[in-house]
Amino acid sequence: MLAGLNVRIVPGATGYLGTNYAGKVAAAHDALSKEDFVFVHVEAPDETSHEGSLEKKIQAIEEFDKNIVGEVLKFRTEFPDLRILVLPDHATPVPLKTHHAGRYRLRYAAPASTPTAALRTAKVGAGEEDVYRGHLV
Ligand SMILES: [Zn+2]
Repeated sequence: MLAGLNVRIVPGATGYLGTNYAGKVAAAHDALSKEDFVFVHVEAPDETSHEGSLEKKIQAIEEFDKNIVGEVLKFRTEFPDLRILVLPDHATPVPLKTHHAGRYRLRYAAPASTPTAALRTAKVGAGEEDVYRGHLV
């Protein structure tokens, strides 16, 4: 909102496990067909970390991976120049149950046609991350 992004309200979005992932993906797809940039926020990994539940955090990450990352990767068929960046807004280690300013990893997927210099820029700017061409891991 402060960045001037158009916010889409997804009914059933709970900020927790079992949120309306399909609704978020549909909203992202709709936005991507109209705008150049889409930001999808998923809160469950953070919330389950605050609870100190490793099992729930794993579930949250698995749900995110399957229902958001897996589905958004399919967008590349329709949007071949799509670049996807997956990252946390901060670390929330389960043992600490709170936010932490430590380092974290990110993943970036870019089309095979992306110039190497652009990938280097992303890598240098982000710190400790891995950049993979054409796929997301
Ligand atoms: Zn938090």
